[in-house]
Amino acid sequence: MNEIIRNPQAGVSNGSLDPQDWNEFRALAHRMLDDAIDGIANVRARPVWRPIPDEVRAAIRTDVPHEATDLAEVYREFSEHVAPYATGNIHPCFMGWVHGGGTAVGMVAEMLAAGLNANLGGRDHMPIEVERQIVEWMRGLFGFPKGASGIFVTGTSMANLMAVLVARTSALGALARQHGLGTDGALLTAYASRAAHGCISRAMDIAGFGTDALRKIDVDADHRIDVAALRAQIAVDRESGFRPFLVTASAGTVDIGAIDDLRAVGELCREEGIWFHVDGAFGALAIFSPELAPLLDGIALADSIALDFHKWGQVPYDAGFLLVRDGERHREAFAQPAAYLSREARGLAAGTVWPCDLGPDLSRGFRALKTWFTLKTFGIDRLGAVIARSCALARYLETRVLAEPRLELLAPVNLNIVCFRYRAGDAVNREIVADIQESGIAAPSGTTLDGRFAIRAAIVNHRTAETDIDALVSAVLEFGVKRTGGLVEVEAPPLATQ
Ligand SMILES: *Cc1c(COP(=O)(O)O)cnc(C)c1O
Repeated sequence: MNEIIRNPQAGVSNGSLDPQDWNEFRALAHRMLDDAIDGIANVRARPVWRPIPDEVRAAIRTDVPHEATDLAEVYREFSEHVAPYATGNIHPCFMGWVHGGGTAVGMVAEMLAAGLNANLGGRDHMPIEVERQIVEWMRGLFGFPKGASGIFVTGTSMANLMAVLVARTSALGALARQHGLGTDGALLTAYASRAAHGCISRAMDIAGFGTDALRKIDVDADHRIDVAALRAQIAVDRESGFRPFLVTASAGTVDIGAIDDLRAVGELCREEGIWFHVDGAFGALAIFSPELAPLLDGIALADSIALDFHKWGQVPYDAGFLLVRDGERHREAFAQPAAYLSREARGLAAGTVWPCDLGPDLSRGFRALKTWFTLKTFGIDRLGAVIARSCALARYLETRVLAEPRLELLAPVNLNIVCFRYRAGDAVNREIVADIQESGIAAPSGTTLDGRFAIRAAIVNHRTAETDIDALVSAVLEFGVKRTGGLVEVEAPPLATQ
């Protein structure tokens, strides 16, 4: 049936946006690819990050381009004004926030996806099957039953928001999508620890509950949710007529990488009939490492899991993911009948559950392809080894900090995050972070723990090695001495020495 023979030259329109001279385009495109590969291969030769000079900011401020510019010229502007001033997270000394390093494989997969220009909102084509295969792999790894569903999204902020919406529809019934939250919805309360990521309270806001409906539960000394306090708060809320509907546990808190006791929280949720969501933005992929996976014990009890392949999974930005135990609940929260999206028995409009039934997006890109390439070319054992190694590097940094009298550790090292500081006040430590970033030597970030500013190093990048940790420590000491004139405050013994 598909044996139609076409003349490839027939009907070529010169009104199209295709290159007029494919050979010229091909040569330039190959050069761009070579430069991009060199950019990764030679990343160590460059500063991690550099401040953007005013002239560079000014250079790209132009009027809207009405006329055409040569591709070669636009590429020159990119090479001069954009590429050198990127975040720097592909560099092995980038340790700020929780940023993945990406890979050369992921980069070319992204290019292949762009070539297909597939729209993964729905319809019957192989790109969607690739996404479904990844859902299936994740379902198996996290011990979810058949019938579970999943979807790629921008990031865990979006995945957490969608989990709140699925839990809402599950608690109030599908009619709430028509009638709104109403008086029943006003009684729903959700729970997360004080150490949970800010996007969880933002999700409560965006979903219409308001942030007050999120009860922030205390944490223990290791930053894990206090399960007894959680149980007590749920009881108090029930007493007062509220309807507890959702608990979000953290698998890797953003500040220090703490993993809540997922089994205890999961069992409590089962007892109470409450939706159990896990924010596993970076930590959930510890499931790839046989050494670390036991820390996630109980994650199989979750009703939903949010995670990012773009952090520890090393997939280029962006590649967030939501997995839901009961695919039917997931669909009920988002699916919508629309004549122009009707499903047919055959042809391109075939297939039952389309990704647009599982989230707010209709048009969606092919994020699954770079993830599929990454998981297949490296294999999850190797990715798991990279994850375990970043935890070993964090422990190495911990020993360096503990061995250096001018430094102090500010939190226990659970996974891959180390919070420490030069023995001086908050202001000095803030300056040290900025000094190091501007020097191009490394890029740590900052956070505040128990009211004290901490230098925070999150080891996520697969390229990071011990020498990069040494470079960070030397830089902290060097700028610390410069900022204090060599004076060291010795206030108290280190807070955390475990
Ligand atoms: C990064 C992170 C998020 C937010 O994820 P995005 O992909 O940046 O939207 C949420 N929770 C935790 C624990 C994180 O580390």
